[in-house]
Order: sequence, then structure tokens, then C-alpha cells
Amino acid sequence: MVMRRTTASKGISGHTVRTTDSWSEPAGRRKPLTAPRSADDSYRSLIDGALHGIYRSSVTGKFLTVNPAMVRMLGYGSAQELLGVDMAHDVYADAGVRAQLIKQYCGAERFAGVEVQWKRKDGTPIAVHLSGRAVRNTLGEVECFEMVAEDVTARSRLEAQLRQAQKMEAVGQLTAGIAHDLNNILTVASVNTDFVLSLLPPELRQLRGDLEELQTAVRRGTAMIKKLLAFSRRDVLQLGALDLGQLISETTSMLRRIVPETVAVELASQESVVVQADPTAVEQILLNLATNARDAMPNGGVLRIAIQCTVLDEGYHGTHPWVLPGRYACMTVSDTGTGMDAATRERVFEPFFTTKPRGAGSGLGMAMIYGLVKQHGGLVHVYSEPGQGTTVKIYFPLATHSEAAGVHPEAARVLPRGTETILVAEDEASIRRATRRMLEQYGYTVLLAADGEEALELFRAHEGEIDLVITDLVMPKLGGRQVYDTLRREEKSVPVVFTSGYSERDVQGSVHVDPDVPFVHKPWTVAEFVVRIRQVLDGCRRPSPSPLGP
Ligand code: ADP
Ligand code: MG
Repeated sequence: MVMRRTTASKGISGHTVRTTDSWSEPAGRRKPLTAPRSADDSYRSLIDGALHGIYRSSVTGKFLTVNPAMVRMLGYGSAQELLGVDMAHDVYADAGVRAQLIKQYCGAERFAGVEVQWKRKDGTPIAVHLSGRAVRNTLGEVECFEMVAEDVTARSRLEAQLRQAQKMEAVGQLTAGIAHDLNNILTVASVNTDFVLSLLPPELRQLRGDLEELQTAVRRGTAMIKKLLAFSRRDVLQLGALDLGQLISETTSMLRRIVPETVAVELASQESVVVQADPTAVEQILLNLATNARDAMPNGGVLRIAIQCTVLDEGYHGTHPWVLPGRYACMTVSDTGTGMDAATRERVFEPFFTTKPRGAGSGLGMAMIYGLVKQHGGLVHVYSEPGQGTTVKIYFPLATHSEAAGVHPEAARVLPRGTETILVAEDEASIRRATRRMLEQYGYTVLLAADGEEALELFRAHEGEIDLVITDLVMPKLGGRQVYDTLRREEKSVPVVFTSGYSERDVQGSVHVDPDVPFVHKPWTVAEFVVRIRQVLDGCRRPSPSPLGP
């Protein structure tokens, strides 16, 4: 037994505290409330109220003291209950890790910054950042550890997502460069091979076979490059309103031909959901997913496709900046195949990553899907466990009402561009960034303001340069309506577009917006926004009565 003394030891900040009590249940030992508040009470309150877990533990792996944050973090009913657990087996996800830490830190005076995997009482894994010190007796032996534990689960998850996103971005840039150059090289090779073949004199007929082989190789190379370009390139899609349900049911017959008869293809729903997407790209995505599902189900199984409407919130924006908050259609493609382990799951979108034998897989299918979905402003998630099958969820932005009204299954709309300067006032930072990114992509110069006052300052500083003001209606300091009124009072004729998360009618009811001022409802789609902006800039304010109008 390492704990020789159970009475007192030097605690945090050198203050004496009992080693076997619990900071969570101090009632019995507290001095009467009438007594002056002692230093002891003051330290106790500091620890009881701490946001991070604070504990003292024995070398053998028992908690000796825990604060309420510790009890909450580990999901126990009381401090008493937590004091009864065996840390190595009940708290550490891997008992060996604790033994290793003890070995490592028994010799050290204090240690800061080690991240460990713990589990809560119900088994949920949590990532915890530990720092603290070993407390020694007069003989220099470690008596116990005094530690601060911070739950960093959310942060580590976000960091992992961010790392993944950055990796994909880096790989995307690298691939784009290579693919672009190779594409040119292969084009030259292909054109010249075709040319030589067409001119080959009959006496050189024996060369024909060699040249045809060369031609086939070049074609295969070109097909691979196409996939790489789909992974990395932006802005090549023909986005338009597309009935996803209809496209899926039309593609199903083709999918049935890809999979063997032992695989059943099930369509969960054929309801009409109109998204903003490129039909050819969606077909390619389905084809690749079906091929992977087929490969994962050599002994047969079920391939299921379903669609569902859902809302994606701000939460995705940090790691997937191209995803705007709003309404999305979720296309779920699942199989009952072999599934993937964590190592495969992590690399599934990397170009050239394949677990298939040479010649069977190129490792470009999922990479292409990733790129295509990203270019749609969507998201793709893979859920898979070994032996449990695989579910791929793909989110496409929903088309707005006006776009849905004119659905063309093969819609091939090129969105209008411009070179004007636009002042954007928006208090929500992520929307501000997204707006800027989008407008710049379509050729505009953008000035950003975080509220109405800043918008007016910017406007005055750039007098004469600004061709259009886009302003959110509800903002701190000065709202969009006031910005508009001020500009008109100062006889500035610059066109103004209002945006708001409230419906046009709500806003008109409460803020009395001029029905002549163009209004874009949030969440807008890129197509809706750039088309409306172009119309306003071209002086055509209200081409058609809005469905939300009075
Ligand atoms: P390829 O199919 O050419 O190997 P992909 O990019 O399509 O390349 O897929 C990469 C890897 O991801 C596959 O080799 C496989 O290990 C894994 N994978 C993809 N989809 C599935 C699935 N539905 N079931 C099991 N594993 C899959
Ligand atoms: Mg594949």
C-alpha cells in the first residue's frame, strides 16, 4: 500500500487537504456557516466550482478525491461511486496506458499535456487532456497524483476533421496540377496516335497492332485523368434543378446491370426531391457507389438507395467551408457487404487508395465522389464497420422553390458572372465568408462589413466604386433597412438587395421593407443568388412576382 498517511498531504497550491475525502460531498466536515470563511473553504469552493475535473489518485489506481466536474465528466451518480472504481479498467480505455503513464511520470516532478482516451460509466469514449504532479513523501516515494483533467473530446474530433479536410485540400491541389499537365500530354499523344493510324500505309500494316495498343493505353490514361480532374477541379459542373428521386429510379436499371443477380437493388423511396445538381455527376456517383457495393458483396446481399430531406446547420462550416447552412437532400446508399476497418475508412477518399488487387481497383472512385460532391456544395460521409456493411450519405443542396418550378432533368445552366464591386453587410461571419467566396468565384470584387455602421463607413470610403449593396436585414448596431434609408436620404442611388433568414412576408410585416427592394431569402442557393444579383445589376429588378410576395 503506497498510501501510508491518510490524514493530510500538501495539496494543490501547497494547501493542506485531506486525501480520502471528496470535494463533492463536503457537507459533514464543513465548519458552521456562522464561522468566518476560512482559507480551507475558499479553496474547496474553487475546486468544487472548477469547470475541469480535478482529482487525486493513488499509484494503484484508485481515485482518492474527485471534484464535481470529474463526476460529471465520467457520468457517475456521485463522487462516492466514482471513488469505488478501478481507474485502469473502468476509466482508461486501455488499461495498459495507465501503467505506462505511471512508469513514465513516477520519476518526473510534474507533467503537463498528455492526452489519453478514457471512457464514461456507460462506456462512451472521451478524450481527456491530463496535467498534474506526483506528490511524494519525505522518503521521496510517490504517495499519490494530483491532476487536472479536461474533456477535449469535441476539440479533438474537430481537429481530426480539420486535418482530414486540410489533407484533402492539399491532395486536391497536388492532383489538380498533375492531372492538368498530364491531360495535355495525353491529349497530344492521343491526337498523334490517331493521326499516324489514319495515315498508316498498307506496307506498314504490322505496326497497326502496336499503335492500337498505344491508343488503348492512352485512352485508359485519359479516363483516369478525367476522374482525377473530377476530384480536384472546381467549377466544371452544369448545376441546375434536378429531381433526385426521378434520376435515381432512372439509374436503377443501369445499376441492376452492374451488380450480379445475387445482389438485390432496393429503392426506399421515389418521391420527388429537387436538388441543385448536375445529372451526369450524380449518375457517376451512383455508378461508383454501386460498383464498390458489388465488390464488397461477392456472396450477394442488398444494395439500398434512399433519399431524405434534412437541414445542415452552421456546425459543418468550420471543417467544410463550402457547405452553407440550409436545407439538403440526403442520398443514402448502403450495402450489406464486408464493410471497412478504421484504417480503410480514414483513407477512403484519397486518390489511388485501394484495398483491391492490382488491376481490380484504381482507388479513384471515392476520390471522384468526394470532388464531385464538394463541387455541388455538398457533403459526403461514410459509415462502415468490418462485417457490418457500408452506408454512404451524400448531401446535395435543395433547389429553392423558384428553381424547382422550372425543373429540367438535363438542366444545363451556366450562371451569369460580373466584374462589379459589391458591398456585403452581414453579421454572421460564416455567411459573410461564404458570400464573399461565392461572389469572387463569379468574378465580382467584394467589400465586407460586419454590421450596418461598418457598411456605411465602407460605402463612404469607397464612394463611387460600389455598384451594389447586399445587406442582411437584422444586424447589430444598424439594420439593413436603416442602411438603405440612410443611403437614400443621402441621395445615393446605388441598388440595394436585402437578405434575411426571415421570410419576406415576416420581414415586410415587421420591418416594413419596401416591396420594390429586391429580397433574397436565406438560406439562398448559389444559383439563386448570382442570378438575382445579375438581374439587379442589369437594372431588371423584379422579373417575376415572388412566390412569397404579398
Ligand atoms: P477502388 O474501388 O478502385 O478500390 P474507391 O475509391 O472506389 O477505389 O474505393 C477505395 C477503397 O475503399 C476500396 O478499395 C475499398 O477498400 C473501400 N470501399 C469503398 N467502398 C466500399 C464498400 N461499399 N464496402 C467496403 N469497402 C469499400
Ligand atoms: Mg471503386
